[in-house]
Amino acid sequence: MTPSTEPTATRTAGATIIDGRAMADELREDLANKIAASGDRPPGLATLLVGDVYTAMAYERRLGRLAQDLGCHYDNQHLPADSELAEVLATIGRLNADPRISGIIVLRPLPDHIPEESLYRRLDPLKDVEAVHPWNAGLVALGEPRFVPSTPSAAFYMLDRYLADSGRDPSSFYEKSTIVLVGRSNNVGKPGLWLGLERHATVISCDRWCDEHGRLRHYTRQGDVLIVAAGVPGLITGDDVRDGVIAIDIGINAVTDPETDRVRLVGDLDFGSVLERAEAVSPVPGGVGPITDVWLLANTLKAAGLPRWVHELGQPR
Ligand code: NAD
Repeated sequence: MTPSTEPTATRTAGATIIDGRAMADELREDLANKIAASGDRPPGLATLLVGDVYTAMAYERRLGRLAQDLGCHYDNQHLPADSELAEVLATIGRLNADPRISGIIVLRPLPDHIPEESLYRRLDPLKDVEAVHPWNAGLVALGEPRFVPSTPSAAFYMLDRYLADSGRDPSSFYEKSTIVLVGRSNNVGKPGLWLGLERHATVISCDRWCDEHGRLRHYTRQGDVLIVAAGVPGLITGDDVRDGVIAIDIGINAVTDPETDRVRLVGDLDFGSVLERAEAVSPVPGGVGPITDVWLLANTLKAAGLPRWVHELGQPR
């Protein structure tokens, strides 16, 4: 992905609000050019959604719009929440075999009776653009990724860009910094740890048990950078961060406004109070999310371009 020189942040009362949409717009333009240059057969993305969770449906709609705007083939598989595991696995099998599809994403959350690991193991590793198949997840952990998962990539792209735009050398910044990640899902938090380690940062991982035992704040206050992906609205307040933190909010939570009864999306940061203490904060919406979407399509283009011999080597299914 090619960075640019346009301003991608706004300063508000001392702190900077990082503009993820502006960054995503640039990446999208770059990607559109690459897709246009990629020949007659466009990359194809498939989303697999089981059930009707609001945030997953919103994500599916966004990805569908973006894929179609970029001229990609798009296939949306939406199965009912009570689908049998065998039916979901069979759907993945069909997508694996479909030559129009180069990338597949399993949207989350899944219903409780569908173990996500079973679905991930069924994905064709060469179409696993979120790097959740054990082969691809292992490659990410080794620092030799085939695909870098879109959400943590987007968070680190945003950080790298913000640091460079504000006149710092990202490499030396990370070497001297502590990054605290809250949440350690296989999709977001854990690959985020690997990306932080690759940058030679000191990385701390916190999860719900840390919070349950009253230790979360102790660690979050140590972060020069705080990346939050817990799915808990307003989990982190201004009291939980150190002065001058750069806070990246990955959380996307649907909350209903009691007065208007309307649903809106909020992050895991208590935005106002964190903003008061921070150097910079990414907002929700308009932060990591739009970059994530473009990144996923970029991975799909990469998957479409994997040479034939990689497929012919044979991969475990
Ligand atoms: P997940 O539910 O799989 O994982 C959440 C993680 O946070 C788990 O490790 C859980 O134990 C931990 N956690 C829960 N409560 C906690 C607490 N009180 N304190 C500390 N840790 C806690 O979710 P996920 O898929 O990793 O997604 C996390 C959030 O990021 C969700 O809100 C999701 O909607 C959002 N998300 C955003 C993007 C994006 O593009 N911005 C993409 C994917 C997910």
